[in-house]
Amino acid sequence: MILVTHALKHLTNFAFSKIRVLKGTKLYAIINQKCPKCREGELFVDRNPYHLKKLFDMPERCEKCNQLYQLEPSFFYGAMYVNYGFTVGIALAVFLAMNVLGNNFELHHYLIGIIIAIFILAPLTFRLGKSVWINMFIKYNPNALDEEEKAQALNRGQ
Ligand SMILES: [Zn+2]
Repeated sequence: MILVTHALKHLTNFAFSKIRVLKGTKLYAIINQKCPKCREGELFVDRNPYHLKKLFDMPERCEKCNQLYQLEPSFFYGAMYVNYGFTVGIALAVFLAMNVLGNNFELHHYLIGIIIAIFILAPLTFRLGKSVWINMFIKYNPNALDEEEKAQALNRGQ
């Protein structure tokens, strides 16, 4: 199990660092777990979802543009629906993959395979669920960092 999580850690690190998605797209913010407004600040305290102790930890605000993440008290409950969608997707993918790989599988083999895949990918889907959800509500602002800088300067001047 330790070996599997270790391999997955490297795999996700690799994926996150190598995927070059245009910064102008929402997909960039979602996959890179960035602030939806400025796409610079981190959405989570620890970038690696497999550091389970910090899986749920989010800063209150974006460190770069000061955007509040938790827009209202139960804001992230909605992320469960996105998470559910990912989970169904994983189940389908495992089912199809097992169908391609062999034809001697019985129902309980599929169930075990699906449950293991969902379990192993849970930290990732949890993070992506939140990331997709917050990106649905907060718009990208290419000038967010400049505006925050001006606001800070104004505050200092007072
Ligand atoms: Zn930001």
